Amino acid sequence: MEIMKEKAKIDGRTGVLGIIGMPVEHTLSPLIHNTLAEDLHHPLVYVPFPVALRDRLGDAVKGAFALGVQGLNVTVPYKKTVIPHLEGLDPLAEKIGAVNTLVRGRSGYIGHNTDILGLERALELRGIILRGRAVILIGAGGAARAAGYLCADRQVRRLYILNRTPEKAIALKEDILASYPGCHITAGALSAAAEIPEKSAAAIQCTSVGLFPGVNETPVDSSHFFDKLEFAMDLVYNPEETAFLRRVRQHGGQTENGLQMLLWQAVRSYELWTGSRISDEEARRVGELLGASLRGKQHG
Ligand code: NAP
Repeated sequence: MEIMKEKAKIDGRTGVLGIIGMPVEHTLSPLIHNTLAEDLHHPLVYVPFPVALRDRLGDAVKGAFALGVQGLNVTVPYKKTVIPHLEGLDPLAEKIGAVNTLVRGRSGYIGHNTDILGLERALELRGIILRGRAVILIGAGGAARAAGYLCADRQVRRLYILNRTPEKAIALKEDILASYPGCHITAGALSAAAEIPEKSAAAIQCTSVGLFPGVNETPVDSSHFFDKLEFAMDLVYNPEETAFLRRVRQHGGQTENGLQMLLWQAVRSYELWTGSRISDEEARRVGELLGASLRGKQHG
């Protein structure tokens, strides 16, 4: 009986969604999107497409479009390099210079950035207001770009960008200033974290440090730094509490991991692909499934 039900799910009218990146075998996106499609009775299936050869990325994107693939997510390492292979960019993605969602246009895909929307929603759900705050970004890669533009757009009082490679932090600062010349930004090396002159800052940890299996690693180790934080979000969600968030909590700060961001960037992508509106209740339900799936994987 169950087998017959499974077979009936895919037929000649089933649309295809997917994710391109490398690697993609551990992605949680199929769980989110296939659950949404099933719950909303949309005839869609979401699959991972590993693009192993970087110089074939253009072929992969054009081939997917030719095959009628309805929408794609883009993940590491292609969020920037996919841009020349697109028909166009949504204005927000153009500003950020990175995309994670491709929506069909007339003769190719249009790139969007829902990472920024997911982060915005995750912070909003925690009641975190960026306007007028001091925010410390740790990292200067693709995720930090989205976070940096969100902070500038929301008129933070001062944005600190700290990165292992300080040149990249400085380059991100210059890029943000080109779009938001009035934003106050200090950029430099991670090693300067303890010297930041703030007392109740919010931090957004945008590096991959602390990710399973390196669960005891943290990008910053100074107690002086953790004393400055009132709130911190770590974009990593596996483990549930990174070593970074543990230190924040031990120093009295509030914490949030990257799970809600993951969920809400996916919700926003799904809404773009299907034109449907996902209710908070449906998103919460999918979030619970996601949390349960992660807890199952937590130590292995
Ligand atoms: P990325 O573009 O490759 O950037 C990686 C960043 O991590 C760079 O700033 C890099 O510094 C830093 N880094 C790497 N290893 C480090 C180390 N050992 N010590 C200090 N810094 C180190 O990656 P990304 O796309 O921004 O993603 C970053 C993290 O965010 C990943 O863990 C990703 O899974 C997570 N993420 C989560 C969500 C979500 O929805 N929750 C969304 C997007 C990303 P250098 O410049 O010095 O190399």
